[in-house]
Amino acid sequence: MITPVENADLTALNSFGFASRAQYLFDVASDAELLEAVAYADERQLPFLVIGGGSNLVLDEYIPGVVVRQISGGYRVLEEDEGSVLLEVAAGQNWHQLVEQVVDAGWSGLENMALIPGTVGAAPVQNIGAYGVELKDRFVSLTAYDREKQVFVEFSASQCGFGYRNSVFKSVAPGRYIITRVRLRLNKQFVQKTGYGVLSQYLNGQEVTARSVFDAIVAIRQSKLPDPRDLGNAGSFFENPVVPVEQCEQLRAAHPDLVAYPERDGFMKLAAGWLIDHAGWKGYRTGRVGVYEKQALVLVNYGQGSARELMDLASKIQASVMEKYGVALVPEPRCYPQ
Ligand code: FAD
Ligand code: NAP
Repeated sequence: MITPVENADLTALNSFGFASRAQYLFDVASDAELLEAVAYADERQLPFLVIGGGSNLVLDEYIPGVVVRQISGGYRVLEEDEGSVLLEVAAGQNWHQLVEQVVDAGWSGLENMALIPGTVGAAPVQNIGAYGVELKDRFVSLTAYDREKQVFVEFSASQCGFGYRNSVFKSVAPGRYIITRVRLRLNKQFVQKTGYGVLSQYLNGQEVTARSVFDAIVAIRQSKLPDPRDLGNAGSFFENPVVPVEQCEQLRAAHPDLVAYPERDGFMKLAAGWLIDHAGWKGYRTGRVGVYEKQALVLVNYGQGSARELMDLASKIQASVMEKYGVALVPEPRCYPQ
């Protein structure tokens, strides 16, 4: 029988470092403990939130109800053949440490996603991605607890509805499923994916391995992004807007240096960081929050800031980008309570 921590301090459990307390916090290490935490919330009709590393969250001062954290990590090899391995990874596993472990084991496929903070359990929620590779490229299936039907269920890749930084867990049924295990297929031979501009410039035509790509990504990210341990942040604060090609062309006519990339058929992905920067926000600071000076897409907490201050700033940026470019910016992190 597990018992929750009451009035638990979540300040160190969210990468913005906002002072926040949960009515009840459960750290669960098994499926049985997870079910106990769910029952505790359901019996008392309490709100329920699952968190991983808190690196894509904006937490208010008080989170009513039950907050659950899965603390079990590690992976096991389910299948192995000449060319690939199939891994099953526990939800509480730190993502970056998994990437480093598989690179060390000589397996390829995750190296472009080095240094993404957070847990394996959260990775499918927004189909994490970076430098031209997304989780879905390596994803096979997952196990989740369905809070509505009260059973464990399996999801294939197609059932997850992965899109650009999106999935059914984020947009169709947020909060319904608790992901407990994720299965990934990795290659034994190095599969090079280094076409992404800044990465190919960094590697400068040299012969590479999964390890050298991993090292390059770590170096690039460390030079551009603030480490949440030094400066609170949740990575990119807004999604890159996806707009019809015609709208992108109209914007480009007025702003020839606009940064945009092809997305799916008929749509272009605009670099939200460019829009925010060119609306004049880069390096802006108000009170204890602001816009990071090296990357306008990252909002930061200089210390002692609050979710409310940050969301006020985010609203002002959204209004200014809408006024200047007619483009709606949507926050990427989840805000609690909503
Ligand atoms: P949390 O922030 O704890 O939770 C995020 C959401 O997922 C919440 O809605 C939560 O309820 C839900 N959730 C968490 N665990 C589970 C679970 N087991 N089952 C069901 N729902 C769950 N993201 C990228 O895609 N690419 C990047 O390159 C990237 N870079 C970043 C860099 C920095 C410096 C930071 C701070 C963030 C970055 N992010 C990036 C965002 C973030 O790291 C990812 O979204 C990550 O997957 C969040 O994991 P987490 O465990 O911290 O999730
Ligand atoms: P960047 O290299 O300055 O590029 C700006 C934007 O342009 C990125 O968002 C990226 O979209 C897009 N882009 C650049 N080159 C591209 C290409 N060759 N093809 C398609 N799209 C391209 O970006 P950055 O902010 O330093 O981030 C680098 C990578 O890390 C990106 O992949 C980004 O998504 C990821 N990242 C994500 C977060 C987060 O919290 N979500 C935080 C930090 C970094 P994409 O985002 O689609 O790649």
